[in-house]
Amino acid sequence: MLQQKIKTLARQYADEFIEVRRHLHVNPELSYQEFETSKFVQTKLAAFGIPFEVMATTGVLGMIKGKNPDSRVIALRADMDALPIQEENEVDYKSKNNGVMHACGHDVHTTILLGAAKILNELKGEWEGTIKLLFQPGEERNPGGASFMIRDGALENPRPQGIFGLHVHPGLDLGKLSFRKGRVMASADEIFITIRSKGGHAAAPHLTADTVLIASHLIVSLQQIISRNNNPTSPSVLSICSIQGGHTTNVIPTEVKLMGTFRAMDETWRLKAHELIRKQAVGLVESMGAEIDLHIDVGYPTVDNDPSLTERAWQLANEYMGKENVSETEMRMGAEDFGYYTQVIPGCFYRLGVRNKEKGIIHNVHTPKFNIDENAIETGIGMMAWLGSSAVV
Ligand SMILES: [Zn+2]
Ligand SMILES: [Zn+2]
Repeated sequence: MLQQKIKTLARQYADEFIEVRRHLHVNPELSYQEFETSKFVQTKLAAFGIPFEVMATTGVLGMIKGKNPDSRVIALRADMDALPIQEENEVDYKSKNNGVMHACGHDVHTTILLGAAKILNELKGEWEGTIKLLFQPGEERNPGGASFMIRDGALENPRPQGIFGLHVHPGLDLGKLSFRKGRVMASADEIFITIRSKGGHAAAPHLTADTVLIASHLIVSLQQIISRNNNPTSPSVLSICSIQGGHTTNVIPTEVKLMGTFRAMDETWRLKAHELIRKQAVGLVESMGAEIDLHIDVGYPTVDNDPSLTERAWQLANEYMGKENVSETEMRMGAEDFGYYTQVIPGCFYRLGVRNKEKGIIHNVHTPKFNIDENAIETGIGMMAWLGSSAVV
C-alpha cells in the first residue's frame, strides 16, 4: 500500500537527504538573499524531473501532477532563510558563512520538502490530484516571504484546497509529531519609538524635557495597556526590548529610542491595541514636553489551523507514526508567516520532534547551538509525502 511504499522510500533516501541538509546548513543565506539556496532547490527539482517556476525573487514553486490532477490540489510549504547568528556547533557541516546560521531549522524544512517531492513524484501514479511545492524566501523578516509568494500567485492556478507546513521543534523528542487545531501562533508587530527634546545640562532639567525620564515612564505605562485593556482570557504580550540614548552622567540626551514587539491572538484586539499604544505614547510624551515619532511595523498575522484539515492530518499522522507518537502542541506567542497562507486557504502547521537528550541535542531555535537529530529527516520526509498524497480536502 501507499503508506508502506512511502516509508520504504523515505528510509532508502534518508542518507541522501541528510547530505542535502548538511549542504544547506554549511551554506546559509539571510532572508531575501537565498540566491544559492534557490538555485540548489531548482537544480534538485530539475534532477527529480519536477517542473517549477521562480517567483518572489528567490522563491520556487514546483508542481507534481498525480492521477486526475484536477480532483484535488494540495500545497506543501518550506521556508529557506537563515539567521544572523554565529554558529557555535563544532560539527563538520558547520556554517561557513560568517555570522549566518540555519538556527531556525529552515535548512531541514527545505530538505524535507525536497525529499517529499522526490517520493511524491516517483509515486505519482498512485495518488490523486496535484501537489504544489512552495519553497519560500524570507520567513524571518517582515513583511514575510509568504506574502510575496501569495502576491506572485503561488495559491492560484490551481488554487489549493489545503496547505501543510511544518516546523522542527526542539521541545519535542525525535520520532514525535504534534498538532493543534485553531489559533496556534500569535500575530507579531514591531514598535519603533523616538522621543526627542532639545536636551541640555543635567543640572538644569527645567530648561528642557528629560527624554530618559519620559522613556522610563512610557515603558512602564505601555504595560498597562496589556494588563488593563486586553481581555485576560486572550494572550497578548508587549515587550520593549531596546532602549538607547545618552552617553554620559550629566547631559540630558536630545533623543531616546525604544524598540519592541507586540503579540496578540485576536485580530480585533491587535488593531485596537495599535491605537491604544499610539494614543498612550503620544499623549504621555507630549504632556511631558517632548516630541515623539512612533512607527508600528505591522508584521505577521496569527496562524490559524483549519480544524477539519488539521483533524484529518492528525488522523493520518496517527496512522503513519502510531498514535502514541502524536500529541497536541502548545499554543505559542511566536509568529510565523505561514499565517498569511491560512488567511487565504485552509492550512495546517505542525511540529516535528528533533530533540535527543542523550546526544545533547536540546538547544532552542534562534540560539548558536541549535541543532537537530538528523534521524528526524526520514520521519519528516515520509510524513510530508504521506500528507501530500493522502490528505482528503
Ligand atoms: Zn525563526
Ligand atoms: Zn522558523
